[in-house]
Amino acid sequence: MAARILIIEDNKANLELAEYLLKASGYTTLTATDGEEGVRSARKEHPDLIICDLQMPIMDGYEVVRELKKDPLLRSIPVIAVTALSMPGDRNQVMSAGFDGYLSKPIEPETFAGTVEGFLPPGLRAPRRPGGS
Ligand code: MN
Repeated sequence: MAARILIIEDNKANLELAEYLLKASGYTTLTATDGEEGVRSARKEHPDLIICDLQMPIMDGYEVVRELKKDPLLRSIPVIAVTALSMPGDRNQVMSAGFDGYLSKPIEPETFAGTVEGFLPPGLRAPRRPGGS
């Protein structure tokens, strides 16, 4: 069965693009537009993967990953940061904050879903459609 993926992102255009691309690849998506709502949704819905923006109102991505990773029921869910990294040390900062991986912005429609899929166990990947790439 294809994964249920929670997207936590305050930018509407990015949220809609990520949601569209993942749905088109066969995934079920859940969305939240700030960190607090994202953590609440994770607790309620137990998604298979979480994609999380870093800069958000109310609760930023660093606080979100801290909350999720200290919860024994949630800490095994992979949390992927989506961010525009610009400095050489940024990746280390993201990874040491507890994220399981990161994707760089802007979202690349050609490769986004495939890259996200790389963070899922094989049993939760959407089946390849005939003729699809
Ligand atoms: Mn943001």
